[in-house]
Amino acid sequence: MRPRKMPPVDVPAGSKFCFKCNLVLPLLAFATDAKQYDGKKFDCRRCDSAAAYARKVRKRDRERVHLPEALAMDRPWSAHVA
Ligand SMILES: [Zn+2]
Repeated sequence: MRPRKMPPVDVPAGSKFCFKCNLVLPLLAFATDAKQYDGKKFDCRRCDSAAAYARKVRKRDRERVHLPEALAMDRPWSAHVA
């Protein structure tokens, strides 16, 4: 198992720090993952789906779509509800 990363900020109870978007988010923003120490995914749902989307796009269109474009399209979560 990977060593736990410690969030750089105080995380209140009922919240979790997403290391991908560097935001403290409510636990509801994290999908369940029984493999994780706290039962929640490492990345928040939006980062997770953005990553899944980028993977999908890369797989489907490896030649034409580059990661920066895929990420730019996947930025609407910057207005996270904390
Ligand atoms: Zn995130």
